[in-house]
Amino acid sequence: MTAITSDAHMQPVKVLDIPVNCSSMDDALAAIASFVASDAKHHVITADSSMAVMGRTDSELRRIVEDASLVTPDSVGILWAAHRKDPAMVARVSGVELVEELCKHSVTEGYSLYFLGAAPGVAQLACERMADRYAGAHIAGAQHGYFQEPEVAAVIDEINAARPDILCVAMGIPRQEKWIASHKHLINASVFIGVGGTFDVLSGSVKRAPHLFQRLKLEWLWRVMGNPKKIGKVMLLPRFVWMVITSNSRGAR
Ligand code: UDP
Repeated sequence: MTAITSDAHMQPVKVLDIPVNCSSMDDALAAIASFVASDAKHHVITADSSMAVMGRTDSELRRIVEDASLVTPDSVGILWAAHRKDPAMVARVSGVELVEELCKHSVTEGYSLYFLGAAPGVAQLACERMADRYAGAHIAGAQHGYFQEPEVAAVIDEINAARPDILCVAMGIPRQEKWIASHKHLINASVFIGVGGTFDVLSGSVKRAPHLFQRLKLEWLWRVMGNPKKIGKVMLLPRFVWMVITSNSRGAR
């Protein structure tokens, strides 16, 4: 495995209760490579504004995020709030881009991934697309995320049989974070990442926002236009902005 070094475990920048401790894709990849090489289990969180708002009232979620090994700024809102405190925070590290980069780097780094989550067939399709795009990518397997409680043991057996280094879990916030926290001790992988709607995008089931929307930082608007059910989540955004602006801890990192 190639050694990558960086200051990925930087001093966290607190966004409400979220300790963001990663400021670039290179840092995230370097940190994850070091987690894979370690004996411990590591939870990686791709944080967005809805998570920061939920964390205010959901103590279980807050504890999980505080205990995570790596927290990346997945959304423009988190990046904006982190940048107010530390001007060095200038890059988003979204779940979609992180998973794609991990697939790409799995070829040279030698680690393997497993995709768990999304509707039946979607994770498998995402897996096939990544394998087509990055020849030699190590994706050990895929399963959908709509299993019932009695099926959990079988799901975990299948993951363990595939022996992945990195388990990517796409079940939405906060379900995926809680699922990882309560099952990671049963799973033989080193890294667990909650990745939201990533497989929907990587499989092509949901299109990424056009470049213009991305440039204007309006990806959230594109997502609501494509899926009005997301309006509830987007409605948390003004609340997030208000909470950040009125936050007492503004001066503290
Ligand atoms: N999902 C799942 N199991 C569930 C609920 C949701 O696998 O019980 C999947 C859903 O199909 C979608 C993803 O979780 O692929 C959630 O995507 P979303 O963009 O809503 O995530 P978030 O915005 O919370 O990051």
